[in-house]
Amino acid sequence: MEPRDRSSYSVYQAGRGIEEVARELGRDPESFVVLSSNENALGASPAAVDAIRDHAAGVNRYPKSSQVDLVEAIAESWDLASEQVWLAPGGDGALDYLHRAMLDPGDDVLVPRPGFAYYAMSARYHHGDVATYSLSKADEFAQTADVVLDAYDGERVVFVISPHSPVGSEMPTSEVERLAEETDDETLVVVDEAYAEFSESESKRTLLGEREDVAILRTFSKAYGLAGLRLGYMMTPESWADVYARVNTPFSVNELACRAGLAALSDDEFVTETVETARWARDYLHEHLDAPTFESGGNFVLVDVSGAAPSGEGEENAGSAVADATQRRGVIVRDCSSFGLPDCIRITTGTREETERAVEVVNRVLAEVPEA
Ligand SMILES: *Cc1c(COP(=O)(O)O)cnc(C)c1O
Repeated sequence: MEPRDRSSYSVYQAGRGIEEVARELGRDPESFVVLSSNENALGASPAAVDAIRDHAAGVNRYPKSSQVDLVEAIAESWDLASEQVWLAPGGDGALDYLHRAMLDPGDDVLVPRPGFAYYAMSARYHHGDVATYSLSKADEFAQTADVVLDAYDGERVVFVISPHSPVGSEMPTSEVERLAEETDDETLVVVDEAYAEFSESESKRTLLGEREDVAILRTFSKAYGLAGLRLGYMMTPESWADVYARVNTPFSVNELACRAGLAALSDDEFVTETVETARWARDYLHEHLDAPTFESGGNFVLVDVSGAAPSGEGEENAGSAVADATQRRGVIVRDCSSFGLPDCIRITTGTREETERAVEVVNRVLAEVPEA
């Protein structure tokens, strides 16, 4: 027996975790600084951790009231109707729900390159095809409506990431609005705001009031520190938001995630400290790394290490050579080859101590790797 044709499918390549790397190198996981997956440097919201503990014994029940309460709290925080909040297991899960709701077989989605792998993966699972638009390194990955419209060909869903991971650039609200305006009526523009808390710019939620063709993705994985719980949501236009009830997996967000999410939403102190730390670390990375960096609105900075040529033979590129070398010195950063940026690494902002250590190690590696 064979499952269906998977020739267009790919496997998601996550940033490497601490246990995996430590095991491979025969070292103590505690001795590593992990700055490869844009996780929260300060841990999880303490209020969320308390909530998980308090409700642990309640997991014999299906999450009914906790889901309703969380959706209402999120809706209230954005001044939306509850139907407009599509709760899901992670932002990734929300992408699946969106594609279930939007795509007919053969519909296309338009995604950025570099970009986030799961848009295309999810679209393909839902019988969609994938086209790409390019953000240009030479242009500092500038995000304008024209950059997208140049490649646009009537796709059903168009993805924008703002702030963009791994590059850090943002698309101004006015440009998102123009993009929505100039694409077809039946094209939905999805703005992925996984990192919006770290940015100085306003959320594109402002566009939801007037438009039926913009949706916004948010997650609890980054600023709230709940990546391990899998919790995210899509904000959708009022006119068709009720479709969620027909496409979602029942109880897909678990009881403890809902309780933790509710607690985290009111943990302003934690989010404020998280954002302040990330902004400090961003500045520190820009200022002290001995390689060109790109402006970032997120909790990470993209670094151009093309000056560092791989030392060995084989197909290794500069990004993976530098990432391998920093890893041997106990600092795990993201090699950006899988994003289509083989000459770059992405460094997640850490605590002050972690960030200083990362800079020291990356600079030492850059100084050692022979010039091209
Ligand atoms: C982290 C991230 C998400 C959401 O991830 P989840 O953990 O599934 O919520 C979405 N888009 C981008 C670009 C991300 O980096």
